Amino acid sequence: MVTIALVGGPNAGKTTLFNALTGDRQPVGNWPGVTVEQRSGGWTGDPSVRVLDLPGIYALTPYTPEEGVTRRVLTKQRPDAILNLVDGASLERGLYLTLQLLELGIPMAVAVNRLDLLEKRGQALDTKALAQGLGCPVTALSAAKGQGVDRAMELALDQAKAGTPPDPAPVYSQRVERAMADILVLARSVLPQEGRAFYVSKLFEGEEEAQKALGAGLALRQRIDLVVSACEEDVNDDRVERIAAERYAFAGDLARRCLTKGRGGRSMTARLDRVLLHPLLALPAFAAALLGMFWLAICLVGGWTETLMATLFRGKWSLLGRELLGVVPLLDYALSRVGCPDWLTSLAVDGVATGVGTVLTFLPQLAVLFFCLTFLEGCGYLSRGAYLLDRAVRRLGLSGKSVVPYILACGCGVPGVLACRTIRRESCRRLTVMTTTFLPCGAKLPVIALIAGTVFPGGWWVAPLAYLAGVGAILLTGWLFSGSRWFPAGDTPFLLELPEYRLPGLGDLVRGTVRRVGEFLGKAGSLLVLASAAVWFAASFGWSQGTFGYLAGGDLSGSLLAGVGTLLAPLFAPLGWGDWRAVVASLTGLLAKESIVGTLAVLCPGGLPDCLMNPAAALSFLLFNLLCAPCLAALGAIRQEMDSPRHFRLTVLWQTALAWFVALGVYNLLELGMRN
Ligand code: GDP
Repeated sequence: MVTIALVGGPNAGKTTLFNALTGDRQPVGNWPGVTVEQRSGGWTGDPSVRVLDLPGIYALTPYTPEEGVTRRVLTKQRPDAILNLVDGASLERGLYLTLQLLELGIPMAVAVNRLDLLEKRGQALDTKALAQGLGCPVTALSAAKGQGVDRAMELALDQAKAGTPPDPAPVYSQRVERAMADILVLARSVLPQEGRAFYVSKLFEGEEEAQKALGAGLALRQRIDLVVSACEEDVNDDRVERIAAERYAFAGDLARRCLTKGRGGRSMTARLDRVLLHPLLALPAFAAALLGMFWLAICLVGGWTETLMATLFRGKWSLLGRELLGVVPLLDYALSRVGCPDWLTSLAVDGVATGVGTVLTFLPQLAVLFFCLTFLEGCGYLSRGAYLLDRAVRRLGLSGKSVVPYILACGCGVPGVLACRTIRRESCRRLTVMTTTFLPCGAKLPVIALIAGTVFPGGWWVAPLAYLAGVGAILLTGWLFSGSRWFPAGDTPFLLELPEYRLPGLGDLVRGTVRRVGEFLGKAGSLLVLASAAVWFAASFGWSQGTFGYLAGGDLSGSLLAGVGTLLAPLFAPLGWGDWRAVVASLTGLLAKESIVGTLAVLCPGGLPDCLMNPAAALSFLLFNLLCAPCLAALGAIRQEMDSPRHFRLTVLWQTALAWFVALGVYNLLELGMRN
């Protein structure tokens, strides 16, 4: 079986090409980083040929998980050939990666994508000259239109069958080439047969990963360092920067020689960018787009679907004059009809069905949010937003790319945290993971609504305050932690394509939305069932008249839950709400934030507990629950994405401590203000 690996920059069109080659229907996006995990499929032209779609990368460095995966596959598994997809609309950037791939010594063909766009712009590509400059065959195609797709594959297949590695022209300056020749001699004994040029350039850069992979000892590393230091002195430049600059110079020169300039006149993208990237208009425009999205999802759609879904689940509704029961009452009725024991009915109805139903109530607004986000991503605007914000948040150790996790987290923390994967720098990615859930997710909205509605009637300011508190917590965390031992500072250049604007297809939008909804349900769903059952158990079992058992009749005061609440209450007394019921509600919030309102409703049928009717205590309760550690589902995602137990522990500790101190401060300040 022959394996052809599809390699290219983020957004080069790999997913589109992969789908065209294999007949698959993977989601396509206009946001760098759609392909996170590798996937493979048989080529429709010859199913015995396996096409491997690798995560999009800008360079063969192991900075991000994507780069790590792609590099590992290319250096360890060594596919039979590489089909390198290069975006014709940013040829120079694409060729920068091509030059590094050539060094691997794997048979390779280059395919320049977006031929349709180049033709529309009146640009002509000289594939022969490009092939000559690179030392490997080149073809042009349009993955989206399906033009030239099989031809590219055949070219790569020919290379795989012939087994001839590319024969690139010298890329670096004479001085650097000389240093590399010296390294080749010095490291002869540790260098593998294949991909020598790649390892030599990595040894030149002094990359630890490569040194480790080769098992280069201290003496060898020191000798190489001498060679490279001498070279640095001669060229008066840092080794890593020098290599990058020389590759860019070569790629830029080649791109200019092989691609003619287009017809004059501004393209639609350039015209739109004049407004949307305007120094004064850009940020307000981006803010307006985000606000519009939230308004549509949370206010407009959320407003009416929440009631509708709640009725469908818990209430009664009528269809064509007939009265029908909602899912939960129907389940209750059905179980009691088949003679199910009380406790089991209660577990299914009050525990699992109610818990899961509450989350599903938020699904419509979440789906709309996902849809809008897929649209913003697909039309090319989201990359611009990230680009705009990057300068503002960089000093806080965050990246422009953090914007996507933050937006998603306003719907649900789980997809928000998962979306952090595309952030290049590790400490920046971890800092984003740590702060994502400070923003109020959809499940926290009912808590905000409850406090705003009952304690501060007409309090329109409560919701904006909640978002402000979230943003404040993000900024504070960034300011405190960036550059620390935990999140060391470092500068990775902000590399993000600003793609052409285009109208995304409806199919892609729907597929993107469905994928995100599925991801959310899969992650949240399984835990939610367990969490709901656990709360139900703690609320339904306890001591009654000296014996432990099932507490029928809904009296919670003897339950396990009440016991735990009373035990923990003194911790929260300084925050103004030492009532066990408020404490228990916050505890169940750890299982799922939407449980807070439900638990309060069960525990205090007559309204909020007295302590929470006090405005200062109510605000303190709200702020604590907004900022403290998120629900279990989100914690699970954080743990996975942090990929470091100590960072995970730090996150939970910091979130909870911050929430506690903020609540303490707000409560005491307000109390003081009210007394005076
Ligand atoms: P990936 O990140 O490399 O997997 O890129 P995708 O396949 O998701 O494509 C990125 C964007 O480029 C999407 O908006 C595609 O519709 C678009 N695209 C892909 N191929 C072509 C093409 O041949 N012509 C044009 N004009 N756009 C394309």
